[in-house]
Amino acid sequence: MTNTHALARPLIDNFGRHVEYLRISVTDRCDFRCTYCMAENMSFLPKSQVLSLEEIEQLARAFVDRGVKKLRLTGGEPLVRRDIMTLIERLGAFLGDGLEELTLTTNGSQLRRYAPELVRHGVKRINVSLDTRDAAKFAAITRWGRLSQVLDGIDAALEAGLHVKINMVALKGENDHEIIPMMEWAHQKGMDLTLIETMPMGAVDIERADQYLPLSKVRENLAKRFTLSDDPLKTGGPARYLRVEETGGRLGLITPLTHNFCETCNRVRMTATGDLYLCLGQDHKVSLRDPLREEGIEAIDKLLDHAMDIKPKGHDFEIDRQKPQVNVSRHMSVTGG
Ligand code: SAM
Ligand code: SF4
Repeated sequence: MTNTHALARPLIDNFGRHVEYLRISVTDRCDFRCTYCMAENMSFLPKSQVLSLEEIEQLARAFVDRGVKKLRLTGGEPLVRRDIMTLIERLGAFLGDGLEELTLTTNGSQLRRYAPELVRHGVKRINVSLDTRDAAKFAAITRWGRLSQVLDGIDAALEAGLHVKINMVALKGENDHEIIPMMEWAHQKGMDLTLIETMPMGAVDIERADQYLPLSKVRENLAKRFTLSDDPLKTGGPARYLRVEETGGRLGLITPLTHNFCETCNRVRMTATGDLYLCLGQDHKVSLRDPLREEGIEAIDKLLDHAMDIKPKGHDFEIDRQKPQVNVSRHMSVTGG
């Protein structure tokens, strides 16, 4: 199909970076309460402030018209939003018409129900977050989650033909000893594994410095047992990839704290209320919801130009016991990671 849209003015920021990737948080709500992500007692947004599915679709179209090629739905938990499959079907219709990839990040709890439908609407790969395969520990980390449901969801995704990448937040003293077994399990099932450093976002009930595990250390330890080589895969994202010779699989490392990845950043993030955040670790944003509601979709183009003008060079995440624990006041569930 010819692409009549992406030839319009592309989104390029003041540092010459092309924005081609939009992450959309479709809800701030979640059926889990992971300790590093949310406080147990979270208050959520009233419905009137949240973009409707139609508004999300309109805005997504505006981004695709400006050259965005990849959309990732996230949250909160994207698959707990009511009628989410209607949105996924509509966004799936953009594939081949400017959009090259539609994907999502999920906690996996609803995959048994939705995996085949995701495939029908053109989703080919998904990220599933899983920090442990120990049922008791899983319950402790997620507070409300059930491991068996998530493992079954992952199987359902694989059965449906989805390519699955497991995301694991490395938590010192909690799941560090599970990194190797998790990698072997994932690779044996044909899934990639990406490790993530915990980021100081939003007030939570735990001490972040206690949980912070630098991935540089993890890599050193892995190199004692496995043959690791740099994998050239570049997603324009923050992960660097390694090939693990013994398992034949791929390991990603997302290291915002030990290695800054901002110079190749190609993404922006829209919250469920239509705030467009230009950097995960900074507060620069442009609000799209009210202009859309008051002036219509025509108002959005110039706001996207303004967004490119204010996209910051990079984040300043830092975890240091002597300094404030929260670098960014919003929780990860607002922008979805
Ligand atoms: N609910 C979905 C899920 O868990 O995959 C999507 C949203 S969740 C906010 C996206 C990712 O952010 C998950 O992989 C989660 O582990 C990660 N995350 C949440 N809070 C984090 C933090 N403070 N530091 C690092 N990663 C975090
Ligand atoms: Fe929910 Fe995902 Fe945050 Fe866990 S990490 S509380 S699953 S949004």
